[in-house]
Amino acid sequence: MREMVGGCCVCSDERGWAENPLVYCDGHGCSVAVHQACYGIVQVPTGPWFCRKCESQERAARVRCELCPHKDGALKRTDSGGWAHVVCALYIPEVQFANVLTMEPIVLQYVPHDRYIKTCYICEDHGRESKAACGACMTCNRQGCRQAFHVTCAQMAGLLCEEEGPEADNVKYCGYCKHHYIKMCDSLPLLGGVLQQRKMRSSGENTERGSFGHSRGGSTSPAQDKHGSHHHRLRKVSVLCIVVYILSLHLTIAWCGLYWCICMNAQILSLSLRFHSESQGQGEAKGEA
Ligand SMILES: [Zn+2]
Ligand SMILES: [Zn+2]
Ligand SMILES: [Zn+2]
Ligand SMILES: [Zn+2]
Ligand SMILES: [Zn+2]
Repeated sequence: MREMVGGCCVCSDERGWAENPLVYCDGHGCSVAVHQACYGIVQVPTGPWFCRKCESQERAARVRCELCPHKDGALKRTDSGGWAHVVCALYIPEVQFANVLTMEPIVLQYVPHDRYIKTCYICEDHGRESKAACGACMTCNRQGCRQAFHVTCAQMAGLLCEEEGPEADNVKYCGYCKHHYIKMCDSLPLLGGVLQQRKMRSSGENTERGSFGHSRGGSTSPAQDKHGSHHHRLRKVSVLCIVVYILSLHLTIAWCGLYWCICMNAQILSLSLRFHSESQGQGEAKGEA
């Protein structure tokens, strides 16, 4: 996707990390760059690396995404022998990965027919009417908005997000129409929250190889734990640890203080009782005298 925002073809982030490097395809004339975890590369080879499209002997003209009209970008095989973008697979909710670790093949059979009927408003806006009806569309994440668009069209327009799902360790892949994206940005101080999260992911994904699963939750759940969500979970857990630590520290201090108070009070009480009884004893002695 040459005209696309730089960096990873899947998440658009330009940064790489030691545990999750940006890997560049060595295929002739191929501009694919992907994070190891964004493309499901289990082991990064020390020598040249080729994306699946360059690896296959299929004629380039035949390799096209079944979910959108764009041809460049990071593609994988579908279970029916075709091709689809990894990013298209992530953002169309019903698409699954047969193997969540290698993120292939891409399973399209659960995508409802409805998605293939919708037309992409971004294609229409750009005068690509013939392509608007290609593939499948995602819809604006704002409730009530019916704008539909291709995942890659939204990616090129910078309208894709990763939001925290209903469960803490879930990532919801979603996008907004331009109108609602701008509205959402305006409502977020310092472009925080959602947009921040979009950039925050990916580092450290390799430390828990086994669990950076792209497994989907129940099919009824809107949450899409398809990919790379445990970074959020790690962050959450560490924050939780710090909070618990501070709380327990406070509690300990409070208990110590309370204990000290009780001791002091008891001491004062016993002292004053002794004093009282002594003075009373003296009084009685005086009285007898
Ligand atoms: Zn990436
Ligand atoms: Zn390639
Ligand atoms: Zn696509
Ligand atoms: Zn489009
Ligand atoms: Zn919208």
